[in-house]
Order: sequence, then C-alpha cells, then structure tokens
Amino acid sequence: MHFLDPILRPKSIAVVGASRQPNTIGWQILDNLLRQGFHGPVYPVNPKAAAIHSIPAYPSVKEIPGPVDLAVIVVPKEHVSAVADDCIEAGVQGIVVISAGFREVGGEGIAREQELVDKLRKAGVRMVGPNCLGIINNDPAIAMNATFAPAYPPFGPVGFVSQSGAMGASILDYAESLGIGISMFVSSGNKADVSGNDLLDYWEHDDNTQMVLMYLESFGNPAKFVEAGRRITRRKPVCVVKSGRTGAGARAAASHTGALAGTELATDALIAQAGAIRAHSVNHLFDLAMAFGNQPLPAGNNVAIVTNAGGPGIIAADACESAGLSVVPLSPETEAKLRARLPEEASVKNPVDLIASATPENYEFALNCVFEDPKIDAAIAAFVPPLGIQTKDVAAAIVRVNERHPAKPLLAVLMGRQGLPAGLAELHESRIPAYIFPESAARALAAMWRFRQHIDRPEGRHVSFDVDDAAVTRIIDATLASGQTKLSEPDALRALEAYGIPTVPWVFVPSAGASSLAARAAAAAGDLGLPVVVKVVSPEVVHKTEVGGVALNLKSKAEVERAVRDMVKRVEAAVADGADPAHREPAKGRTASVIDGVLIQEMAKGGTETIVGLTRLPRVGALIMFGLGGIYVEVMRDVVLRLAPLVDTDAEEMIREVKMFPLLAGARGDVPRDLAALADTVLRISQLAERHPRIVELDINPLLALPSGVRAVDGRIALAR
Ligand code: ADP
Ligand code: MG
Repeated sequence: MHFLDPILRPKSIAVVGASRQPNTIGWQILDNLLRQGFHGPVYPVNPKAAAIHSIPAYPSVKEIPGPVDLAVIVVPKEHVSAVADDCIEAGVQGIVVISAGFREVGGEGIAREQELVDKLRKAGVRMVGPNCLGIINNDPAIAMNATFAPAYPPFGPVGFVSQSGAMGASILDYAESLGIGISMFVSSGNKADVSGNDLLDYWEHDDNTQMVLMYLESFGNPAKFVEAGRRITRRKPVCVVKSGRTGAGARAAASHTGALAGTELATDALIAQAGAIRAHSVNHLFDLAMAFGNQPLPAGNNVAIVTNAGGPGIIAADACESAGLSVVPLSPETEAKLRARLPEEASVKNPVDLIASATPENYEFALNCVFEDPKIDAAIAAFVPPLGIQTKDVAAAIVRVNERHPAKPLLAVLMGRQGLPAGLAELHESRIPAYIFPESAARALAAMWRFRQHIDRPEGRHVSFDVDDAAVTRIIDATLASGQTKLSEPDALRALEAYGIPTVPWVFVPSAGASSLAARAAAAAGDLGLPVVVKVVSPEVVHKTEVGGVALNLKSKAEVERAVRDMVKRVEAAVADGADPAHREPAKGRTASVIDGVLIQEMAKGGTETIVGLTRLPRVGALIMFGLGGIYVEVMRDVVLRLAPLVDTDAEEMIREVKMFPLLAGARGDVPRDLAALADTVLRISQLAERHPRIVELDINPLLALPSGVRAVDGRIALAR
C-alpha cells in the first residue's frame, strides 16, 4: 500500500467542518462528494448540526462509528490542530486541510503550520495542503470529488497537480470543455507535507494516469523533482507550467555561472532534466494536454498538412519545420491517388491544398490518403470556413479518419471567422486535439515527437571518475587555513588537474625571490617554450583582463620580461584605484604585496572557447553550466544549466542545447570539436560539486575545445567560508 492510498483512494471520508449553509466551503465539499457519488460512506462532522444534506452528522471525528481513511478539514485555522488530534486519536489515515491561514500568511501562520506538520509526522498521518482546494479521484470505482470547485471534469488520462487553488479550479473548468479527461487532481496548497514530487511517484504506477500536468509556483525539493520526473517520464509525459522565479535568488557572484543561476535558465534546467516539458502559459499547457491526452505519439517527424486555403497551409508548414517536424513530399503513389479524385485546381503536394470548395468528403479522402502513405507519421487538418460548407461536417469527417487510423496522431486547426469556430466542441468531444491557430497544433505535435525521442533514448547513467580527491581536499584546507575563500589561480588549475581535466601547460613564478620577477619569468618562459601568455596572480584581482593582467602571445624572453614589468605596474595602479570592477573593496595602501607572482602559460592556438561552471544555491543544489565562452556567454547568455549530479545524457544534452552548437559541431567545413571530451569535463565538474561541497563557485572560462581533447586555460574556484 502507498502512503497516498488512504488520501486518493479512501474507503471512507469525514468532512470536518461540513456546513448546512449553502455556498460555504464546508457545504460545497460535502455536496461535491455526494453529487459525484463517492463509493464509500461520507461522514459530516459538525458539533452544531444533527444532520447535513440529510446525512447524520457527528460532533467529532472520534464519534464516527466506522473507520475513517480520509478526513477533509474545513474548520477555521485555530481549530485545525485540535481536529488533527482527534483524527490521530480516531485512527484516520490521511487528511486534506482546506483551511487557510498557515505559512502563506507568514508570522504565526508559519509556526501554526510547523506545529501541525510535526504532530502529523509523529503520528504517521500524511497531509495534503493546508490552504488548498481539495482533491479528486475520477476513477469510477472511487468517484471522489473532495474539492469545493464547482467543476466536474470527465474521467480521463490526465493527473493534474496545482499549487494554486484558483488556477486549479479554472483549469478543471476548462478541462471539461476541451475534452481533457482527469484521472486525479490534487491541489497541493502549501505543500507542507505531500508535494508534487510525491504525486509524480504515485502517478508513475497509476494505470489510470497516462500524463501529468503540473502548475507550480516553487520547487520545494528540486533534486527530488528531477529524480521523480526522470523516472515517470520514461513512460508518461509530464507538462509543467512554472510561474515565478526559482526563488533561490542568485548570490552576488563573481562567476558567470552564479549570475545566471537565479534566472529562468535554472527553471528550464530542472524541467528539462526531469524529462518534463515546459509549457510557457496555461494556454500552452492545454494545447499540450489535448494532444498528449488524446492522441498516440508519432513514430517519426514526417507530417502531412491538409488544408482548404494556401495561407494556413504555409503557416502550418513553417511552424512545423521550425518546431523540428518535417513537411516531407508525399510519395508519388499518394500524389497520384489524390490527383485522380480531387479538383484540378487542388495542390496534391504537401501541404495538400483542397481549395475553398473543399467538401467534408474531400477532407476525409485526402486525410485517409496521406495516412495510408507509409512515410507519413502524423497529420494536421486545417480548415478555414468558406461560405456554404458546414464546419461541423468537416469535423465529423476528421473524426472518421481518426477512427480509421488510430495509430497515427491527427490534429485539427479550425480557424474561426466570427468568434470561435463551430465544430471545435465536436472535435474536443471526439478526442481530436483542435486548435484555432496552426502554430499551436505544430507546437503540440513537435512536443509529442520530442517526447517520443525522449522515451526511445537510453536512460542516462551515472559515471564516476577515478580522481585525486585528497589533493583537492588539501588545496581547499590550505586555502581556508590562510584566510582566503578564493583559490589562487595555480591552485585552481591544480584542482582541475587532480580531477583529470587537462590544462594548458603552465608554471607559476612567485614574486618573492632572489632576482627580479621579470627576469625569472623570462627564464621560465624559455623553459616552457615560446610563445607564452603571462597572467598576474593576485588575491585582489578577479577578472585579470580588466586590470591589464593578461599578456598574450609573447614570442621572446625579452617580450616576457617587458610584459611582466609593465603588468606589475599596471595591476598595482589598478588595484590601488579599485579599478577592477569585480573587486569593489581594494585593499587601500597595499601596493607591492598585492601581487603574488605571475603565471606563465603556453600560448594555445586553434580551440573554440567554451565555459564550464558550477554554482551552489541554497535549497536547490549545485547547478552545472555549459556554454560558449567570450561574447556568447557575456552578451548572448548562450548557456545551459543542469542540477548535479548529472548523468551522461545530461552532459550530452547540455552541449547540444547551446544555440551556437554548430560552432562546436564543425560549421562551414570547420573541424568538429571533441564533444566527448567536453561532456567528460562537464561530468567531472559534476562529480567535483558532489564530492566537495565546500566549493560554491567554479568557472573554467575558457575551456578550449580542440579537435582532439580540451584544455582549461583559466580556472576560478570559490569556497564557502
Ligand atoms: P580573465 O578571465 O581573468 O580575464 P583569462 O586567463 O581567461 O583571464 O584570459 C583572458 C583571455 O585571454 C581568455 O579568455 C583567452 O581568450 C585568452 N587566453 C588566456 N590564456 C590563454 C592561453 N594560454 N592561450 C591562448 N589564449 C589565452
Ligand atoms: Mg577567463
């Protein structure tokens, strides 16, 4: 038995706070339970009434003669705790707290919620809410509507969890009119105990539920969301509307990863990593639900479009192509079949244009023809009502085609002329996803195709690398012991090397020494091999280039010597001025000692600059970033984030998802970069994040992607104090 069974499949229900007063919440819940015909006994509890809705009422849960699985609590907030005590005493298994006035109001509401949670945890009683709309299980064998929403969505394949009660109520309302059948609905409210993640787990094994819709305002436990999402989306699609930001807030960060982590990118990351589909509006969520909830997934991405006007055909074709679908030519046989029966003016090439005189019979014939073409995986039927043709008849024709070809998805677009087109309702009732705009249909079909690819891909695997963790621990300990929270550049490079991430060959030349720094640097450069790069090493400098602390492509020892001398002067002046914008509090008065030394690095040639980073957010975890370096990260924010720990497919996806991926894959005849080595580096950073929680920020910027292998050029690592 699952811990949610007593809540979602109860055998008996008590409504505590049931009311005789119509149009109160305590009245509506009881009314809904009875109206829906809940299969077991319902016990109203109200000390002031002998009977409610003609059913005997009880003064307390403890007085109910039979066992109670679920108590729905609708009493004022001050009484919830006492009612919970009664429930525990009476052996109630689960509760739904509708009452508001808890965490959401702040102040003492927070304490009130905590007290309730603690009490229930101790007793092993699980809770949905508080501050919620209630729950529904539409399974005919249960028939439970324990909400106070005046909506009765039909039974169907969609599990729906909403963090907002009001959004939940209106979505349930629309669901019915769009033909979206609901298996279960849970208004999760404050999620003080049962969360959306628990429901993902539960619905994974519920045969009635074939897809999940989530309306979220926050991620309570992002890591668990990713984990639970990953499992259920192996078989069932999960579509998420997430409003608001991640809530974690980016720390004021010196790293690019940190600056980007608090943005929408992080939400995108969590949803993508869970294998879920992000809907950008409630409207979009419905578009997806109609398609996923009613039609099979396409076997491929070849789409046929059948229309009665050129414009919608072209718009639909463009929308399909840009969403990753393919409007392929039909086979010659299909074209010939169409040619033989359609009017001369019709275009029999995909998109098939039946022209304005198209009859319902023309639609039925043409759609059957394209579905009989083995190349075609899915079809979109678009219809603009001309004079004299009944949209409803075309809708009926579309329904007949769908019945004949149930294995291939069929989506309809009915464009209106005066308000909503007629026929839409008929299609929805017949479980044909029907849209008003071609783009919506294309977008929904493309999401189905992506999900098909997602479930066909092998599951990601955790990879673990044999690395020198002890060396990293030593570096971290030594850095913290010296009072610093930022690793020196040589130490950062050493830490990367300990993790098997190759660096461009380098040596560190310290300031302190017998001869001049410049002379020793020149000698070291000679040993390393010219040309070289010289970089300042100083705890005062974060972005070296911005203070003139990087000199590239030095070809002789003399050049190195001069570069070091100039650099020391420049950097000292800049630090004294506080000119490094990343470092707002320069150590005034410190001059000569601000520079620890210089790093001499081999001048690397011919790599593509990428960036790999990590940032640790409170309550979220470590986000790993991959992107293209230079202007792509700074200006275009062309980066992809994922939550650690990553699996191998996460790393591959991250690399493929950056917009400038063609630059890595070998655009315009260029040699492709070593994508496997990039993925390997990303996974090693994920392992570093997992095993060394004291690291809170890390940027490798740039990590050079070469045709063979990668090289870290610049490493920045910050620690928690
Ligand atoms: P910072 O980011 O602190 O300004 P970097 O070490 O990243 O300093 O250097 C700045 C830029 O100089 C790099 O993004 C890269 O384009 C270039 N660069 C740095 N080191 C090398 C090197 N060894 N070989 C080639 N180019 C380099
Ligand atoms: Mg850099």
